[in-house]
This record gives sequence, structure tokens and C-alpha cells, in this order.
Amino acid sequence: MFDVEKIRKDFPILSREIYGKPLVYFDNGATTQKPRCVVEKIEEMYYNTNANIHRGVHFLSQAATDEHEKARRTVRDFIHAGKESEIIFTRGTTEAINLVASSFCREFCKPGDEIIISTMEHHSNIVPWQIQGDIFGVKIRVIPINDKGELIWDEFEKLFSEKTKLVSVMHISNVLGTINPVEKIIEAAHAHNIPVLIDAAQSVQHTPIDVQKLDCDFLVFSGHKIYGPTGVGVLYGKENWLDKLPPYQGGGEMIATVSFAKTTYNELPFKFEAGTPDYVGSTALATALDYVSAIGLENIYVYENKLLDYATEKLLQFDKMRIIGTADYKTGVVSFLVGNIHHYDMGMLLDKMGIAVRTGHHCAQPLMDALGIEGTVRASFAFYNTKEEIDRLVAGLERIIPMFG
Ligand code: PMP
Repeated sequence: MFDVEKIRKDFPILSREIYGKPLVYFDNGATTQKPRCVVEKIEEMYYNTNANIHRGVHFLSQAATDEHEKARRTVRDFIHAGKESEIIFTRGTTEAINLVASSFCREFCKPGDEIIISTMEHHSNIVPWQIQGDIFGVKIRVIPINDKGELIWDEFEKLFSEKTKLVSVMHISNVLGTINPVEKIIEAAHAHNIPVLIDAAQSVQHTPIDVQKLDCDFLVFSGHKIYGPTGVGVLYGKENWLDKLPPYQGGGEMIATVSFAKTTYNELPFKFEAGTPDYVGSTALATALDYVSAIGLENIYVYENKLLDYATEKLLQFDKMRIIGTADYKTGVVSFLVGNIHHYDMGMLLDKMGIAVRTGHHCAQPLMDALGIEGTVRASFAFYNTKEEIDRLVAGLERIIPMFG
């Protein structure tokens, strides 16, 4: 499939030691590590190709502009969008959702209208809708989940009414690993003429995505979770939606003409890219996407699922192990609790063994409330992780669990 040991050499940080122990990095859901080519691209841009883009006639400005626009085409191809004008660079998933929430509610919503989200959403797909809700009188309706951490389909269908304006759901849960049936969700919403936003923050790095096949209206993701740099992300939107949405922020680049009497706006995608974009970030993100494409998302999906199956099987050997999120279709993430051991204590002790896991509510407090827990310990995988690293986690738990009696 692919040579993991060879791949690991591309990620210098993976050979670090933490407290004198080789690092086991299982916090990929929060952010992924960066291959050397991504860091080198950032360096290369700043050392050789740095100038503000789009407005310059000089060589460097043109070269940087070319890199940024080439990156846009790389993103377009990566998610199989039809047009590069449908790719908007943002700061990340959070900003992309805030953009849609703000512009969509302003243009299309009136008091009493509703946005459908789900119980398992990350705060960044809840709070932007609440903020806009306060401004425009829009309410959220929430798809409940079952004990396995799957959306309850019948309840979802009941949420549609003449007040529904948009469905915004995550593709893969950052806590449960659940792969939501987004194709079916989009089909059902479209049957009601309702557009759908897909939060792909936890899916674009684990599974191939084709926005045209999916037929989603908006899709968002963060560069840093797919081996790219922090501070850059993507909003994909169908052209007919993006055309209708008003700008999110005002400033340079997003305008056609400005006068004190009246300002007109630039064409897509620039209408949504106010100010100097992170052109170094966008080009390094493109490098990351090329790197991932060379390994192949199909291969990544298969490999990471093997890791997940292995981890699940090993974790279940512990007596008081409770896996949070047992959906039929899941990937990438295993969340767990053991007996009454606090997730934070577990995380701290694993850390001392060089094992990085995330603990807490994972920015999904409403999900924690629904599950009746405060938080979990979460191990989230990347294609550079190995079974041996899972064995290290298991060995760590073998030491920690008896400490709590
Ligand atoms: N949605 C999901 C499902 C996530 O996992 C995250 C990050 N944990 C976000 C949104 C927010 O991403 P960012 O902080 O990169 O904007």
C-alpha cells in the first residue's frame, strides 16, 4: 500500500523525544504534523517569491499571484470542484462557516427561519448560527443521535418545514468518528429545495471527496488538519450560491470600484477574499494536498481504518473500557473513558509517557451533554501512525489503570 516508515521520515517532528520517550502523536484531529515539503514550500515562498499578490505589476508580485492561483486550482482538483472561482481561501473551517452563516442569513433569512444542524457538531458549526440567529432572528433545529453516535434519520426528516433555510452538518465527527451519510442528507435536503453545508474538517484528510458527486452547496475544511499550514482553509461553494451571497468582509481585493457614494464588488472568488490573503499558506496547502494525493486517499482510508480497528480491539481488552462512538461507519478517531478515571488525568499520565492524546469536550459541549459525560480521551490517527504506537498507548493504559485502583 505505502511504506509507513518511509513516510514517517518526511515528518521530522515524529522522531522527537518527549520526556525522553519517542513521541507518539495521536492528536491529529486537532492538528496534523507537517511533511518537510510543506515547511520547505513556506521557506521557499518567503525567501524567493514573496510580494503582495494581485495588485502588483512587478515580477515577484506576479510570481506570488501565480502561485496563489495555482494553489486554488490544486484545491479545486483535490475536491473535484467544477470551477476555481468556487474555491474561496479562508483562515480555516471556522472562518468559512462564519462567512456562510453571516452572508447567508443576511441575504436569505427572516425572523423565525431555521437552520438544521446536528447534536454532534463542533462549536464552530453551532455558534456562528447562534450569533446570526441573534441578529436575524434565526433558530437552530438539532438532529438527535442514537446510543452509537449516529444521526437518527427519522428525526432528521421531521425537522424540515417551510421555515427551514439550510442544513449544516459535519461529515465525520471529531469526537465519535462517525461518518455521517452526507450523500443521503444532501439528497433529502434538496428534495425540500434546501441547500447543505458540509463541515469536512475531519473528512477531507481521511477520505476522497468529490463535491460535484456529493452535490453539496457548500463544503469547508482547514489546511492544518490536512498536513498543511495553520491559518489557511477553504470554502467551496456552488457558483450560483456564492454569486447570490453578499460579501462577508470589506476591504481591498473584494471590490470592483469604490467611491464614497457607492462601492461595487469584485467577481468570484475575490468578492470573499478581503485584504491580503495568506498566499504563502495557500501555496503550502497546495503542496500538502499534492503530498496527500501522491499517497492516495483511498490508501489512506484503508490504512487508517486498520489502525482504528486494531486500536478498538486492543482498547476493548480493558475491563472498564467504554468506547464513545460505535457507529457502523466510522474512521480516524477513537474516544474512550475507563471506569471513573478522569479523562484529564489519563491524558496527563499518557503525556508523561510521550503519548499525545486530547482530552476534554473537544469543542462539542452539546454532544457531551447528550452523552451525559464531561469529556473523553481521544486518540485520532493519521497515515503516519503505526500499530506499534497503538501498542505503546495500550502499554501506557496497562500502567495507568491500576494506579486508580
Ligand atoms: N469542525 C470540526 C469537525 C473540527 O474538528 C474542527 C477542529 N477541531 C473545526 C470544525 C474547526 O476547525 P478550525 O479550528 O481549524 O477552524
